[in-house]
Amino acid sequence: MIRRPFFGCGKPKLDYAGIDGLDQVDIKDIPVSERVVLFVEAPPSAISDVSFQVGDKIKTGQNLRVSPFSKATFTSTVTGVISNVAKKKGYLGKPLLSVSIDVSEADEVDEDFARAVQAAEPEETGRYLSELPGGANLNALIHPRTPLKTIVVNGMDKDLLVTTQQMVVKSKADDLKDGIEYLKKITGNPKVVLVVPPYLGTEASKSGADVRTITPSYPNSLPEMIMKDMLEQVVPAGMDSMSLGVGFISAEGVASLKSAVIEGKPPVTKMLTVIGKDEKTQVVRVRVGTPIHSVLSALQIPMEQGDRLVIGGPMTGRSIYTEETPILQDTDAIMVQGRDQILLNGNDPCINCGECVRACPVRIPVNMLVRLLENSQYENAASEYDLLSCIECGLCSYVCEAKIPVFHYIMLGKYELSLMRRAEESANG
Ligand code: SF4
Ligand code: SF4
Repeated sequence: MIRRPFFGCGKPKLDYAGIDGLDQVDIKDIPVSERVVLFVEAPPSAISDVSFQVGDKIKTGQNLRVSPFSKATFTSTVTGVISNVAKKKGYLGKPLLSVSIDVSEADEVDEDFARAVQAAEPEETGRYLSELPGGANLNALIHPRTPLKTIVVNGMDKDLLVTTQQMVVKSKADDLKDGIEYLKKITGNPKVVLVVPPYLGTEASKSGADVRTITPSYPNSLPEMIMKDMLEQVVPAGMDSMSLGVGFISAEGVASLKSAVIEGKPPVTKMLTVIGKDEKTQVVRVRVGTPIHSVLSALQIPMEQGDRLVIGGPMTGRSIYTEETPILQDTDAIMVQGRDQILLNGNDPCINCGECVRACPVRIPVNMLVRLLENSQYENAASEYDLLSCIECGLCSYVCEAKIPVFHYIMLGKYELSLMRRAEESANG
């Protein structure tokens, strides 16, 4: 087995990339490609019985139900003709519906969009805006499992080298203010906390939210760390912040509510940070569904044999095998690594150096955990070594002396465990 950590020869510092000192916001617009691909999450039964077909015309902002037997819907980001509909497996085998659309020259906004999102019924808004740029799930905030006391708007990026959410705070302070007002209205007026690095305090103060500044050191911007450091609450193992009445949404998601609800414009573009082979970064704005090769080509970043493409940043990103992969609502970054930057490691065993244990922010005995995960002992990994307390920061992989892909074992372990528990639940009725 060949293991390839995402860090190359030069290890980056563990401070987030910042945009302090940046006077002008430079965001490049990527042209709309001839074909976009939308990935829709839906239950396998719905994916087998789709209610639209190749040849159907679709407008920007049009909301389609995936199947007559499912509540799953998606909102188109372009105007055009559906050219392919296919089942697909996403990250860790998640079932997806892939909908390709050949884009028309004229961009026509569906007349139902404004009516639906401006309706007094939050259900309608939630259906059309179920996925906002930045990966926010508005429906989960409108219908929380536990009454919402607080919404955290994250204006800090989740990974190193990424500046997408910071750029939103810097360039869209007024949109954030209007978006926050609307968000409070449709979610029962919870307290709204806006988290930013210190150098964005002035812009953030225009939002009307309770602004909290965090030290821009990794992994302070991850939700569990914000919960602990800013809200003084610890998320129990295997649960999420929603179970404590705290919802999270990205700054980009909130800002997009303004144009959607107040101006009736579908939120069809996504800002993202593109990290090149030289680790230089560029923030771009792109239509959701655009294939990654169109972004790379517009930025003149060539992909060569042996280079690696990663969705996300260096700590928690995942490599993908094709440049055809589309930019999704939650794609905050893409990273290209040259073949010379990638370290190839053999199948070395753990040398028990303890670096991973010292690096782990939640003090998991990672050296022991990884032994169980390597042997597919997922239940024991959770019960004996705290698998479900992991906040998915990737620091253990980063520091591992033996270059074991610990983080990837952890993600796989969590996924396998969730499948096992779901199977048990359905067997028990
Ligand atoms: S990814 Fe690794 S270092 Fe981070 S919380 Fe999980 S076990 Fe700890
Ligand atoms: S850092 Fe790697 S080699 Fe060291 S104890 Fe942890 S898993 Fe083992």
